[in-house]
Amino acid sequence: MHAGSNRRASNLFYQSGSRRPPVDRAEGIYIWAQDGRRWIDGSSGAMVVNIGHGNRNVLDAMKRQMERTTFAYRLHFENDAAEDLATRLCDLMPPGFDRVFFVSGGSEATESCIKLARQYAVATGQAGRYKVISRFPSYHGCTLGALAVTGYAALAAPFSPLMAAMPKIPAPTAYLDRDDLTPAGRGLRYADMLEAAIKAEGPETVLAFIMEPVGGASTGALVAPDSYYPRVREICDRYGVLLIHDEVMSGAGRTGKFLAGDHWPDGRPDLVALSKGLGSGYCPLGAMVAPDRIVAPVLAAGGFLHGFTYAGNPLASAAGLAVLDEMERGDMIGNAARMGAVLAARLEGLKARFPFIGDVRGKGLLLAAELVADPGTMEPLPARLNAYQRLVDIAYDKGLIIYSRRTRGGYEGDHVLVCPPLIITEAQVEELMAILTESLADLAAELHL
Ligand code: PLP
Repeated sequence: MHAGSNRRASNLFYQSGSRRPPVDRAEGIYIWAQDGRRWIDGSSGAMVVNIGHGNRNVLDAMKRQMERTTFAYRLHFENDAAEDLATRLCDLMPPGFDRVFFVSGGSEATESCIKLARQYAVATGQAGRYKVISRFPSYHGCTLGALAVTGYAALAAPFSPLMAAMPKIPAPTAYLDRDDLTPAGRGLRYADMLEAAIKAEGPETVLAFIMEPVGGASTGALVAPDSYYPRVREICDRYGVLLIHDEVMSGAGRTGKFLAGDHWPDGRPDLVALSKGLGSGYCPLGAMVAPDRIVAPVLAAGGFLHGFTYAGNPLASAAGLAVLDEMERGDMIGNAARMGAVLAARLEGLKARFPFIGDVRGKGLLLAAELVADPGTMEPLPARLNAYQRLVDIAYDKGLIIYSRRTRGGYEGDHVLVCPPLIITEAQVEELMAILTESLADLAAELHL
């Protein structure tokens, strides 16, 4: 017994030492600390709580499941909740996506895609294929496989001896380009970089290409020109490369369609990774969704050599099922499209008052504004200003949570993501915008922008 000898003010630790006030409760788009302060959750946590906080129907469904069982191991029992969630999920997916593999988070979902792709290659006599091309900047997770394809050098550097080096191509930052091409031409130019990389690596060694169809925190909701998506599909087909869409952040309705990839039906992937909004923060939940043509050869060759203890557990599955029910019942995906258009227009409108707002981009309620030194050239603000962090802190003190980053890798720049729950109303968009506008005014005064 060593009771007490290991006690510290806090025994917990996360990525860094900074601390925030203890949370008390949350409802809808709002979240309260124990000292009574209230915030608008303008980032849905980390783009997680798509259906909003404290949804009674989801809580009731979870309670009902909890009364029966919270855990039954998949080697001992099937469970209806996981079965039903898989069926429900496949109904929301594009044609052909009829197999679901559950996990508990986003890194596990992307990792699963990479491993299934690899086993598929082995099972189909293509064992020479192992390279997974990805983009920089990008974020696909923090486990070693997911990190190997993440385009964020500083995050990966200390672990490089533990990971295979994976080829990276630039993310389609076409809005930065100053050339004579049309947006469509730029989209094709970026997509063709994939073909060049496949050829340079040797097509017989390339297993897959992984991309976020609408970027997340790493790029600030980067959307490629429409021409990019079908061309990427075409190139993958030409060289037998599997296309993986990382929809961990962009999926589950956030962009105004169930999948962000649904905006470009001609660019459909082979494998999809989902998490975040799928469980909407009610339970850790993620999924890889795949067509049987990829799963069947792997199962026939002896099985998928992969799996997590908590995967497909009854409680997380019941929560996920209720989340999808609520999404449909409240037409939340439709609301994401409608409110996304309102919010995007309001963000765009900020440019007139704040000349340091450059590109405003995104889809649905996965939106971002870039903070720049010069909107004409999109020259970034100096890193030493720490503008993105100052904006987060100023807004936080005023009762608004936003998610913001400095993109590093490929190009540099501060951006702020505005991604409230999909249930936000127009009045609440105005409430959010009022605090954001005040925060930007304070930032401008403080940094002399
Ligand atoms: N992929 C994308 C696009 C993400 O945004 C994230 C998390 O932010 C992940 C993967 C990793 O998810 P998790 O943090 O749940 O492991």
